[in-house]
Amino acid sequence: MELGHFIGGSRVAGTSGRFSDVFNPATGRPEKTVALANRAEIRAAVENAKAAQPAWAATNPQKRGRVMMALVQLLHRDMDKLAEALSREHGKTLPDAKGDVIRGLEVIEFCIGAPNFMKGEFSEGAGPGIDIYSMRQPLGVVAGITPFNFPAMIPMWKFGPAIAAGNAFILKPSERAPSVPLMLAELMQEAGLPDGVLNVVNGDKEAVDAILDDPDIQAIGFVGSTQIAEYIYTRGCAAGKRVQCFGGAKNHMLIAPDADLDQAADALIGAGYGAAGERCMAISVAVPFGEGTADRLMERLIPRVEALKVGPYTSDDADFGPLVTAEAKRRVLGLIGKGVEEGAALAVDGRGFSLQGYEDGFFVGPCLFDRVTPDMTIYKEEIFGPVLSVVRAETYGDALRLPMENLYGNGVSIFTRDGDTARDFAARVNVGMVGINVPIPVPLAYYTFGGWKRSGFGDLNQFGADGFRFYTKTKTVTSRWPSGVKEGASFVIPTMS
Ligand code: NAD
Repeated sequence: MELGHFIGGSRVAGTSGRFSDVFNPATGRPEKTVALANRAEIRAAVENAKAAQPAWAATNPQKRGRVMMALVQLLHRDMDKLAEALSREHGKTLPDAKGDVIRGLEVIEFCIGAPNFMKGEFSEGAGPGIDIYSMRQPLGVVAGITPFNFPAMIPMWKFGPAIAAGNAFILKPSERAPSVPLMLAELMQEAGLPDGVLNVVNGDKEAVDAILDDPDIQAIGFVGSTQIAEYIYTRGCAAGKRVQCFGGAKNHMLIAPDADLDQAADALIGAGYGAAGERCMAISVAVPFGEGTADRLMERLIPRVEALKVGPYTSDDADFGPLVTAEAKRRVLGLIGKGVEEGAALAVDGRGFSLQGYEDGFFVGPCLFDRVTPDMTIYKEEIFGPVLSVVRAETYGDALRLPMENLYGNGVSIFTRDGDTARDFAARVNVGMVGINVPIPVPLAYYTFGGWKRSGFGDLNQFGADGFRFYTKTKTVTSRWPSGVKEGASFVIPTMS
């Protein structure tokens, strides 16, 4: 099966002659190919978007919101189909794939409120006969470039607010999981979106570079690895575009001696190994601090990690599935080897994991490292696999220093019963999203999502009110009516004094 693009309201075949294989990670076999767009194809999408955008922007925001309302219904109707397509290319379990769709759907629900977020401000009588008001207007044609690990959620985080605000959108999803973004574009069409307002162009670096160079694309929202985030941010800004880029992560969870350690261990299992660790908000570092906390935590963690069930998405009881590609598996196994070499204690070793009937799948069993130190490669690099590292700290101050000094700043959490410590932690830690007795603190749709330091480039977060701010610009109008007009010209800067 060959997957192409979605341009001008229908699926079109790729014309570049370049393709990439799309694998079923559980079997390790390629099941589809996806076309990789060239500059001409990106340009065709932009031309369609440009032609469609003015009428869409002129459609009142309530009507635009109703398209979002219809999309919510269609997402519920097609939930099973979407989850199956998603799991088949990503490898995550079906319940987790549904979660992926739902966390995107929740942002679409928020976007139904577009009229509220498009409202401007008004000051009557700012001067004699003078009123001042501001308007929020869409930017025009905007783009989103998204990663493989949330093929439903992150495209919706991007195109939801952008389209609800009256922009036309070019989505360049990951070439590793291209089916669901195409299905989402079809559902938007069915929900009543005019042709050309949402275009999906599959591709790799060539397509991304064409987006970066296109003079008609006003803004780019990116999510992916830090290296590519920085590249897109730098080049996009240099080209005069508005750019926000969200990158990789190394999320710590601090465990205080007074924490409920069973609860903390359960939280670590879900947050560390769910989706095989392929989440930007996965907890990859556990930091128990205080006398004896680490030993008590390890006692609870080891049997839980050993009991984890790994399997294909078609199995009913798998806790997590395979990694996305053979390359990802090679990388993760390489990093685990490096951890052993550099002296970390591998308390649970999942490297030899194999599943009958799925011997070629990209599976890695759960791994648990103890006595990891900040100078080790497994601490410094984002592993993006089912590997949890335990770094032992003596005091709260030592523990806090770890996420504070880490280059990444996406998510962080603390497990404690002490409100004072929790409050101090939330106030001081230099990380964008904080959990208190919550391991994966992904904010809901009516807040905003964004990491600090090398996890986020640009000033506004994703979704929530920031999503609308990012994809709109403000125009401020100062108006004066004849009763306020004074005689003669003035050469002094007007003030309201
Ligand atoms: P990736 O950086 O490899 O790919 C992301 C996008 O960039 C894809 O669309 C891809 O086609 C494109 N791309 C890849 N290489 C490129 C290049 N050389 N030039 C231009 N474009 C290129 O990321 P991924 O492997 O798909 O996703 C995993 C990463 O995303 C992890 O680092 C994870 O932490 C991060 N992530 C971050 C967030 C967040 O909100 N901070 C959310 C999800 C994932």
